[in-house]
Amino acid sequence: MELHTVHILDTTFITHNVKRFTVEKPKGYTYNPGQAVRLALNKQGWDKQQREFNFTSLTSSKTLEFIIKIYDERQGVTHQLGLAHAGDGLLMGEPFGAMSYHGPGYFFAAGSGVTPFIAILRDLQKRKQLEGNTLICTNQTASDVILDEELTKMLGRNFLNMFTRQHVIGFQERRMDRNTVVTLVQNFDQKFYICGPDSFVSNIGDILRSLGAKAESIIMEE
Ligand SMILES: Cc1cc2nc3c(=O)[nH]c(=O)nc-3n(C[C@H](O)[C@H](O)[C@H](O)COP(=O)(O)OP(=O)(O)OC[C@H]3O[C@@H](n4cnc5c(N)ncnc54)[C@H](O)[C@@H]3O)c2cc1C
Repeated sequence: MELHTVHILDTTFITHNVKRFTVEKPKGYTYNPGQAVRLALNKQGWDKQQREFNFTSLTSSKTLEFIIKIYDERQGVTHQLGLAHAGDGLLMGEPFGAMSYHGPGYFFAAGSGVTPFIAILRDLQKRKQLEGNTLICTNQTASDVILDEELTKMLGRNFLNMFTRQHVIGFQERRMDRNTVVTLVQNFDQKFYICGPDSFVSNIGDILRSLGAKAESIIMEE
């Protein structure tokens, strides 16, 4: 597979452990909202270590954007990306991925699983087709929420957050379970998008199916 050599143009930490990368876009490079790509650092010892990341930029943007959770404790690729800055090189493959928009519904995201939804929701906003969509994010604490301000502005009351470890009065502290889904979703005859760790995806998928959602209406990142 052809690898594109691209440079990082800008980086910013947008939470304590999530970093936004603005990256050169190769001429003629295209992808669809919700797709991902394999990236490696273009430096000795790391150029064969590819990891998957979703594009979060609008497809019409002149640059690419990635929003990446840095796992310093693993000493892996994301730790290296945590050290990377403007001017550093990346090796990028071709876009792939099963996540795409199939119509209005509920987006369930755990942690950095929100990234394909950022691309899809930004695209819908641009096309003025956001209506009827709700995003539900689960994170450990409020400080882990990715793009809180932008998503609140974009979706208003249709952006819901749940925290599994928030010890602050006034915040709802719970895991997403059957009761939560029943409370949040009134109509199961619509689309459901799920992205996050495997256990989250299969758990929410099972709950939705048991509550009457059709298997073909549940779209998951594979
Ligand atoms: C299609 C797709 C799209 C993705 N898009 C994004 C994105 O846009 N942004 C983003 O931040 N991430 C995204 N990810 C996740 C990202 O690929 C991983 O976080 C990254 O590969 C971790 O690489 P690493 O070298 O730092 O960690 P590694 O050490 O290589 O870890 C690799 C894998 O091992 C497992 N693992 C290792 N250590 C632990 C641990 N302590 N606890 C739990 N699991 C562990 C995890 O499954 C982890 O993904 C995506 C993943 C896929 C499959």
